[in-house]
Amino acid sequence: MMAVPKEPVLRGTLLFDEPMARHTSWRVGGPAQRFYAPADLADLAVFLRSLPLDEELLWLGLGSNLLVRDGGIAGTVIALHAALNTLELIAPSTVRAEAGVPCAKVARFCARNNLVGAEFLVGIPGTMGGALAMNAGAFGGETWAHVVAVETIDRHGNVRTRHPEDFQIGYRHVQGPAGEWFVAAQLGLQAGDGAAAQVRSKELLEQRNRTQPTNQPSCGSVFRNPKGDYAARLIEAAGLKGHRIGGACVSEKHANFIVNTGMASAADIEALIEHVARTVEQVHGVKLVREAHIVGECSHG
Ligand SMILES: Cc1cc2nc3c(=O)[nH]c(=O)nc-3n(C[C@H](O)[C@H](O)[C@H](O)COP(=O)(O)OP(=O)(O)OC[C@H]3O[C@@H](n4cnc5c(N)ncnc54)[C@H](O)[C@@H]3O)c2cc1C
Repeated sequence: MMAVPKEPVLRGTLLFDEPMARHTSWRVGGPAQRFYAPADLADLAVFLRSLPLDEELLWLGLGSNLLVRDGGIAGTVIALHAALNTLELIAPSTVRAEAGVPCAKVARFCARNNLVGAEFLVGIPGTMGGALAMNAGAFGGETWAHVVAVETIDRHGNVRTRHPEDFQIGYRHVQGPAGEWFVAAQLGLQAGDGAAAQVRSKELLEQRNRTQPTNQPSCGSVFRNPKGDYAARLIEAAGLKGHRIGGACVSEKHANFIVNTGMASAADIEALIEHVARTVEQVHGVKLVREAHIVGECSHG
């Protein structure tokens, strides 16, 4: 008798109705129907192959650029930050960082290996996967300026190596082949003085703490800076600093941050985002473009 091939066993963690407020830096968001934290890349491939092809997927890093609505996610969240954690030198000045590695860890790893150029990543509170998806940047540095290659996965679990020319890359915007998501980056950096890179990273962190409300839940800058100007300047000049809707408030410290003062709902935050955009357009005639991603269902409760 022929043995029936067994379904591969999943080794990650599958949760149901997982509150997304636990996984976003704004600390809001309703439940995800399914939430999967893979054990590793091979397990992620098995999981993806097990899903119906029309299953809605939300790829999650550290949720530091995501507003999940109060009604939650009708589909499956794939959370990479507890998996895909390999960080290694693959050539004298090329670092391979899997998608779940926190950006700060990449910055410190580069400096320890006497590589310079990645210091700007130190204060970005997301993962490498999120930094690739957003082209995260700060203080003149940008993620894709250092990308030599990326590794992606599709719904069938196929992993490919792709290059920057396969993507349209802009300011906080990246568009790549449909149906592929990031599982690793290969970053090219310059050989240099690692101790000086560590000092610079420390200075950048201090500058953030001085100018940003880093001790309150937020998603960083809500809007992209318009060409030749700053969203924060426009918002402050429109008299919006300190403006509140429910528990959401335009930060007094940095007007392009909306903070959760404790009891905000996602609906409060979204309403405040819309109010700020509308007011800035009325006062300055400038249409602000959102940097934060809004996902999920409105609450009908
Ligand atoms: C205090 C604070 C300061 C910040 N400062 C900066 C800053 O200086 N510069 C800056 O650019 N940003 C900044 N941000 C925003 C945020 O940290 C970045 O956008 C970051 O890159 C998001 O990474 P993440 O892992 O948290 O992504 P998430 O928020 O989890 O996801 C963001 C988007 O990327 C997608 N995504 C995530 N992982 C993958 C993947 N593996 N493959 C494909 N798509 C994926 C998600 O689906 C989502 O659309 C700040 C945020 C905070 C809270």
